[in-house]
Amino acid sequence: MAAPDESVVHGSKASPKDLPALDKLLRDCAPLVAEHGHTLVAGEARALLDGLRLRAVAGQLARIELDALAPTLAARVQARLAPAMRAVLNLSGTVIHTNLGRALLADAALQQVLALLGSPNNLEFDLDTGGRGDRDDLIEGLLCELTGAEAATVVNNNAAAVLLGIAALARGREAIVSRGELVEIGGAFRLPDVMAAAGATLVEVGTTNRTHPRDYEQAVSERTALIVKVHASNYAVQGFTAAVDEATLAPIAHAAGLPLMTDLGSGALVDLAKYGLPAEPLPQAMLAAGCDVVTFSGDKLLGGPQAGLIVGSREAVGRIRKSPMKRALRLSKLPFAALEATLRLYLRPERLARDLPTLRLLTRPQGQIAALAARLQPELAAAVAPRFGVEVVALQSQIGSGSLPVERLPSAGLAVTALDGRGRMLEALATALRGLPRPVIGRIHDDRLLLDLRCLEEPALLSSQLGLLKEMLA
Ligand SMILES: *Cc1c(COP(=O)(O)O)cnc(C)c1O
Repeated sequence: MAAPDESVVHGSKASPKDLPALDKLLRDCAPLVAEHGHTLVAGEARALLDGLRLRAVAGQLARIELDALAPTLAARVQARLAPAMRAVLNLSGTVIHTNLGRALLADAALQQVLALLGSPNNLEFDLDTGGRGDRDDLIEGLLCELTGAEAATVVNNNAAAVLLGIAALARGREAIVSRGELVEIGGAFRLPDVMAAAGATLVEVGTTNRTHPRDYEQAVSERTALIVKVHASNYAVQGFTAAVDEATLAPIAHAAGLPLMTDLGSGALVDLAKYGLPAEPLPQAMLAAGCDVVTFSGDKLLGGPQAGLIVGSREAVGRIRKSPMKRALRLSKLPFAALEATLRLYLRPERLARDLPTLRLLTRPQGQIAALAARLQPELAAAVAPRFGVEVVALQSQIGSGSLPVERLPSAGLAVTALDGRGRMLEALATALRGLPRPVIGRIHDDRLLLDLRCLEEPALLSSQLGLLKEMLA
């Protein structure tokens, strides 16, 4: 019989009986099984064959697809092993982006994590005495030196620090908070709920826009255990407003024998105004104003890992440390190693804008970002032509993560416009960018896809993907 015409065979549909048996497919893929073991490869092979069988029954499976079963199976196995958490390019214009993992760790912190975590370490072991140690001892002296505090401890994040502080200082009693500071930070963290979870009774004083010293004084009773201040982070109250600052509130609290706790949210440890950035209240200033406890995040302006830092008086921090909740909220060794290395960078303030990525990105000059945009414009324009146009534009970056909500940093980047078809096409482009091996995250605003280049420190990570982007758009 003459060989059938190739085009006919390749164009023809496969039937379920054309599919190989599972065992046969696994034998054909012996090297894959040898590399990854039977469990994963057989599981993926079964799922692959099941899917093909359904399509064959529906008459939708081309015979030619059966020739590529081995590479298809290998690709499925690779896809299963690829981590779902991936590195992306943050061109969103928000430097400390909560959804993109907040602060980038400094090299020193990354090296410390790598060096320590494959090895036993002295996390809770006293190398001088050979006895049991406390992880706080590794970091407390440094935090006290940097903030002027008498005592310090660290927990899993700032939400935990606030919860723990209130639980340790006011459980079963009342805590006073201004109505203007009953904030919600990202969905599930609402101060009234945190109070309830900590077992304290919330006493609200003042109004949404104005709270005065006498409001606090009148709310104090024998049931009061704590006064709490929360810094406006992800919102701003503007216009006819009044709040009582820590320096005014501390003597009121202390006259009544109460501790004053303040939640700074994003705690910068250095004066940002020195770097030409909007000023942010410092923990050291809050302690000097008389606060007994100050809490702030490790992965916002501090530029470290997720952590909650608690600094304050020996008495208040001592009570916090003794709370049974402290053990449940303690900082794990991985972020602990990164936090210590990050804090040590602050011992060299002259080097900070170079060594700490968060500060380096926030202080990046607009001219430098604009020059980068001009360099990348022709490459991106070639990749998205002919359906899109690309121009260099001035932009405003945001600091992000609840810090300094109304402040903007002059920046620059690339604006992509659809030359026809409008919104739908921009969405498709944004989807293609997110589909790259190193997903590119921009933002769509006023019918333009904006790529703010402030956080692009390695332009090759973008340009090396533009060929692929062009293929995806074709
Ligand atoms: C961000 C923030 C928190 C929560 O801090 P995490 O480290 O994200 O847990 C709490 N309070 C304020 C004011 C904040 O800005």
